[in-house]
Amino acid sequence: MSTDDDFDIDEPELTSDDLLVLDDPRFTPDTVAIVTGAASGIGEATALALAANGLTTVGIDVDEGGLDATAELADDLALPGEFVAAPADLTDDEAVERAVDGAAERGDLRYVANIAGLQHIAAIENFPMEQYDVMQSVMVRAPFLVAKHAIPHIETTDDATGAIANMASVHGHYATQDKASYITAKHALHGLTRSIAAEGEGSLRGFSVSVGYVLTPLMVNQIADTATERGIGERRVVEDVMLGQARTKEMMMPAEVANLFVLMMTPAEVANLFVFGFSGHAKHLNGGDLLFDGGYTHTYE
Ligand code: NAD
Repeated sequence: MSTDDDFDIDEPELTSDDLLVLDDPRFTPDTVAIVTGAASGIGEATALALAANGLTTVGIDVDEGGLDATAELADDLALPGEFVAAPADLTDDEAVERAVDGAAERGDLRYVANIAGLQHIAAIENFPMEQYDVMQSVMVRAPFLVAKHAIPHIETTDDATGAIANMASVHGHYATQDKASYITAKHALHGLTRSIAAEGEGSLRGFSVSVGYVLTPLMVNQIADTATERGIGERRVVEDVMLGQARTKEMMMPAEVANLFVLMMTPAEVANLFVFGFSGHAKHLNGGDLLFDGGYTHTYE
């Protein structure tokens, strides 16, 4: 039962000033980065951030219209790197192989950001198995498959240097109610990340990115279902379930906050973690996790 008014959400408008730009010898148009989920939210912002750093960025997503919108935004921002849309369903093995090989034809494929994902809110006993399978397919199997096809290309660059990053979550560190498939998938990504690091010989790195709640459609779409599952209002979902454990908000929050969403991380802030993780500044980040959660995971009460 939802007792509160629904939330209106305005996604933050992304500007060039939001994006971290680093001086890195491999951040050039000759270098190719693949970003999955590039049609929306964190994937879109990450594709734009990598293009802002001058890389040729290939965005894979099943949402063709969303990819077009990302391309338009890249044009509007006049980013130095090219954004290339590569529509593909990540549950289609042949489409994934074609998209990765196609990306590698555009230059030296060195970086992969596996970001595409989806959520479903239901208790384990009620969880539809078809939905479980799709989630594991997009968030665990596809990152493995993209890595499988990308690694040979990264290994044949002049210095076999690159990195594969997997979008995890605070839900890859602990569990809450009604997200069992998502939580299972995000925990699994640590295994894939560490395996990439183990096989990467040091020059091909693997790392993951974990954050709390980020202002994207995936986050907003789960508010109503979470309210129903828990029998609480939508405002309490945002205040208690989503922001309850975050400490950063206490530094930011005036006594009364009109719009709770301003307290959440933005897609651009997450995108910047991928930029740093791919750069030479992160050469010792290998098999590890960039946990930027505002204090969620390691504090209690
Ligand atoms: P989003 O819904 O804005 O974007 C997800 C994208 O994945 C969409 O463009 C969608 O089309 C794409 N996608 C889904 N299924 C696909 C498929 N079969 N083939 C190709 N593309 C597919 O979501 P977001 O919030 O930007 O989430 C991106 C990632 O970040 C996800 O892995 C999510 O788990 C993770 N994450 C999100 C949050 C958050 O609060 N938003 C927090 C932590 C982690």
